[in-house]
Amino acid sequence: MDPFADTLQRLREAFSSGRTRPAEFRAAQLNGLSRFLRENKQLLLEALAQDLHKSAFEAEVSEISISQNEINLALRNLRAWMKDEKVSKNLATQLDSAFIRKEPFGLVLILSPWNYPLNLSLGPLVGALAAGNCVVLKPSEISKNTEKVLAEVLPRYLDQSCFAVVLGGPQETGRLLEHKFDYIFFTGNPQVGKIVMTAAAKHLTPVTLELGGKNPCYVDDNCDPETVANRVAFFRCFNAGQTCVAPDYVLCSPEVQAQLVPALQSAITRFYGDDPQSSPNLGRIINEKHFQRLRGLLSCGRVVIGGQSDESDLYIAPTVLVDVQETEPVMQEEIFGPILPIVNVRSLGQAIDFINRREKPLALYVFSKSSQVVKRVLAQTSSGGFCGNDGFMHLTLASLPFGGVGSSGMGSYHGRFSFDTFSHHRACLLRPPGLEKIYAIRYPPHTPRNLRV
Ligand code: NAD
Repeated sequence: MDPFADTLQRLREAFSSGRTRPAEFRAAQLNGLSRFLRENKQLLLEALAQDLHKSAFEAEVSEISISQNEINLALRNLRAWMKDEKVSKNLATQLDSAFIRKEPFGLVLILSPWNYPLNLSLGPLVGALAAGNCVVLKPSEISKNTEKVLAEVLPRYLDQSCFAVVLGGPQETGRLLEHKFDYIFFTGNPQVGKIVMTAAAKHLTPVTLELGGKNPCYVDDNCDPETVANRVAFFRCFNAGQTCVAPDYVLCSPEVQAQLVPALQSAITRFYGDDPQSSPNLGRIINEKHFQRLRGLLSCGRVVIGGQSDESDLYIAPTVLVDVQETEPVMQEEIFGPILPIVNVRSLGQAIDFINRREKPLALYVFSKSSQVVKRVLAQTSSGGFCGNDGFMHLTLASLPFGGVGSSGMGSYHGRFSFDTFSHHRACLLRPPGLEKIYAIRYPPHTPRNLRV
C-alpha cells in the first residue's frame, strides 16, 4: 500500500484542471499563508521554543517576519512577475512576438530541515505557490512540534486540493521520492542532497539543493577586535549555532587571535551572562544525536572559552577552540553548534589558499577595515553568498539570490528568485500565419541567391 499515491493523484488532477494558474488563485494562497502566520503566531512561537528553545526575538526575526516579508513581496509583485517577458529579436523575427512565459512546473515537492523549520518550509512554499504550482511539503520530522503545526494547521489556510503536508523520516521520504514530481526543492545536508538528486534523476526531475558546509570567516589584522567579536559571536551562537550560513571557523593571525579571544569572551558574557545555560536568549541543540556529536567536537584543539555541556538540557556552552589541527573532526565537518574554532594563518594569501583547498562554502565572511582586503577575498574565492564585515545579513535582502555553489548547493531562491525557481521559463515565438512569399526564401532548392541573404 503506497501511503502517498492518493494525495499525489489528487494534486496532479488539481494542477491539470488549471485552477492554480490565475493570479487571483495564487494571491488567495499567499493571503492564506499570511493569515496562517498572523493567527497562529503564539502557537508557532511555542512550537519553536519547544523544538529549539528558540527565543521570541530569534523566532520573530528568523522565522516569522522573514516569511511574512517573502509573502508580502510576492503579493505586491505577483502580477508583474507573472507577465510575459518580451525579448529582443533578430532580423528574421522582426514581425513576430518573442517572449518568455513563466509557467508553473506542476507538482512540486519541498523537503525542509529542522533548524529553521518554519521559515525553510514557508520560504520555498511562497515561491512555489506564487508560481502557480501544486505543492507537497514534507517538513522535518526532527523539529516535531513545528512539524505538528505545519501538518495540522497550515493546510486549513490553503486550498487542500492543491496543497498537502506529508510526514515522515528518511524511510518514508525515500518512498515519497520514488514518485515522479515536476520539481524538487530540498534543504538539508549534502549527503541527503545526493540521495534526493539521485532519486530525482530517475525521473529527470529538476532540483534546487540548498545544502550546507563549513563557512570560513577571515579576520584581517586591520580590524577592530571588539566589533568583530560582537558580530562573530552573535552569528555563531544564533539558534545555538544551528544555522547553515553561520560562520563556522575563524582564520586569523596569532596576533589577532590574542585580541579576539578576550573580546569574544566579553561579547559572550554580555549576550548570555556569566551562566549562558540560564540565558533565555541561547537556544538548545535539537536532539541527543546532535548533542553527542557536538560534545565530541569539544575535545578538538584547546578550549579557551566555554566548553561546558549538559546532556539533560541538550546544552552546549558558547565555546571557542584554539590550536586546532586541520585534520581534527571540528575542521572536517560542518559544526552546526555554538562552537567556534580559530585556525591561524600567516597571511591573507594563506587564508585564501586555505579556503580554496576546501569545498565551496554556502557563505564566506571577511572582516577588515581595508576594502582592498575584502575585495581581494571576494575576487579570489567562490561561495554561495558573501558578506563583508558582518554575519549572514546578506540573506535578509530578498533582492539577492540565496543558494550555494558546488557542494553547498545548486539553484537559489528568495524574492523574485523564488518565483523564477519554481517557474519553467518557456521560450515563445509567435509568427504571422501569412507572409509566405518572404519565408519561402528558406526552402530548397538552395541557390547562390538565397545563400547571400
Ligand atoms: P537533513 O538533510 O537531515 O534533512 C532534511 C530533510 O531531508 C528532512 O525533511 C528529512 O526528513 C529528510 N531526510 C533526511 N534523511 C533522509 C534520507 N536518508 N532520505 C530522504 N530524506 C531524508 O538535514 P537537517 O539535519 O534537517 O538540516 C541540517 C543541514 O541542512 C545542514 O547541513 C545545514 O547546513 C543544511 N541547511 C541548509 C540550508 C540552506 O538554506 N542552504 C538551510 C538550513 C539547513
